[in-house]
Amino acid sequence: MTSAESGTDVLVIGCGAAGMFAAIHAAAAGARVTVLEQNDKAGKKIYITGKGRCNLTNDCGAEEILEHTIRGKKFLYSAVYGCDSGSVQRFFSERGCPLKTERGGRVFPVSDKSSDIIRVLTKEMERLGVCVRYGTRVRELLTEDGRVRGVLLADGTSLTAEAVIIATGGLSYPATGATGDGYRFAKSAGHQVTECRPSLVPFETAEAWHKELQGLTLKNVRLYMLPAPAETKAGGGSGKARKKMRFDEQGELLFTHFGVSGPLVLTACALLNDALHDGAGAGEEGHGALPLRLAIDCKPALGAEELDRRLLRDFSAQPRRQFKNSLGGLFPASLIPVMCALAEECAGIAPDTPAGELTRAQRLAFGALMKALPVTVTGTRGFSEAVITRGGVELKEIRPSTMASKLCDGLFFAGEGLDCDALTGGFNLQIAWSTGALAGRSAAESAKV
Ligand SMILES: Cc1cc2nc3c(=O)[nH]c(=O)nc-3n(C[C@H](O)[C@H](O)[C@H](O)COP(=O)(O)OP(=O)(O)OC[C@H]3O[C@@H](n4cnc5c(N)ncnc54)[C@H](O)[C@@H]3O)c2cc1C
Repeated sequence: MTSAESGTDVLVIGCGAAGMFAAIHAAAAGARVTVLEQNDKAGKKIYITGKGRCNLTNDCGAEEILEHTIRGKKFLYSAVYGCDSGSVQRFFSERGCPLKTERGGRVFPVSDKSSDIIRVLTKEMERLGVCVRYGTRVRELLTEDGRVRGVLLADGTSLTAEAVIIATGGLSYPATGATGDGYRFAKSAGHQVTECRPSLVPFETAEAWHKELQGLTLKNVRLYMLPAPAETKAGGGSGKARKKMRFDEQGELLFTHFGVSGPLVLTACALLNDALHDGAGAGEEGHGALPLRLAIDCKPALGAEELDRRLLRDFSAQPRRQFKNSLGGLFPASLIPVMCALAEECAGIAPDTPAGELTRAQRLAFGALMKALPVTVTGTRGFSEAVITRGGVELKEIRPSTMASKLCDGLFFAGEGLDCDALTGGFNLQIAWSTGALAGRSAAESAKV
């Protein structure tokens, strides 16, 4: 069966953000488009984004989007400039889904419902005559003489088309359909796939007291990487990887039953992801980055001396009060017992010491502890909790101006399956929209030839 007989010019594998945007842009450019989706509905992952509210993009310029991209900055240039945040926002608002911008430029539907985003996309596909086949799993990519011919479905039937777009996502949150099939398809067409790892994912830590604090959120704290033990072999690692290992940011951190999570930790995970695995940290003999030593500064607004003055003032106000009862103005209640235990261990302060009897050295040691609570990262959580996949189809083998494969004619890529990722804030969906739009337009163009 030829594509003319099958009635499809462009086949899109995957009905997620990238696949739907690709289908819409290919159909708008005049192609006959079929989307193949193994799930029984569209956009299962979009549905859970932004805690069900869908932070669909970030209200900023193309340059800023690229600045928030971790991997694939250069590669994404054409895609992001061709479909930037403004175009994405117009697309949804002009189709009956008003948007709002929140803290940090995060854009959400006014309704706070991700289902509204999915509805706009499915309606637009319908309007443009895109055929969507749900419950349809692609088993293999069909290629011949260096060009794509179509796909083989799990039920044994095959479909042909002039162009195929792989928009199958990555490996994160497998329950949404992220099975990694796209990597297999890419490899079968001769592409390389870089190592895939969970990213924007919480850290597992060594400190038992982190687990005791599960559920506690610390706002406006600073999380930073402690310098590797200077010039020792342990903690050395390769110079290149070590250079990448910088992290020092402020925000919100959450303690969990396995370690730490929250926006600060996810960002740390994304920025340190390569280094964590490249053998650059404080691991024994310099092998392996783990454990990685980070620290929490509970009072980032105060320098060491200012903090000491504050402690002196607090402790002198009621000097007979026991130390353990003098910390209410400094920490949330659930953190106080932990701080007391650490103060005893690190600064030799017995919890029942009258606050006024603390020596200057003890007070300074306690201040230092407050500015460097240890976070010893022993690993990350897995793909089932990861917001994104770090790694994917090798970018060098894809044309950035079209998203076309350099190795197999008629084959295109879009979305999380590419070796691109970004920080939180709507940037990952923006990558899906931008690469989807470009792949869709290019596939329609190539199918006409
Ligand atoms: C919990 C969570 C919250 C997030 N929140 C945000 C957020 O607020 N903002 C943001 O920018 N990003 C967010 N992200 C990231 C964002 O959701 C993804 O980057 C984006 O959805 C990727 O889109 P995609 O189309 O590439 O892949 P997907 O959405 O994963 O779509 C791929 C589709 O392909 C289908 N498929 C796979 N293999 C086959 C096959 N063999 N045959 C047929 N179909 C197949 C899958 O079933 C799936 O529907 C979040 C991610 C998670 C996990």
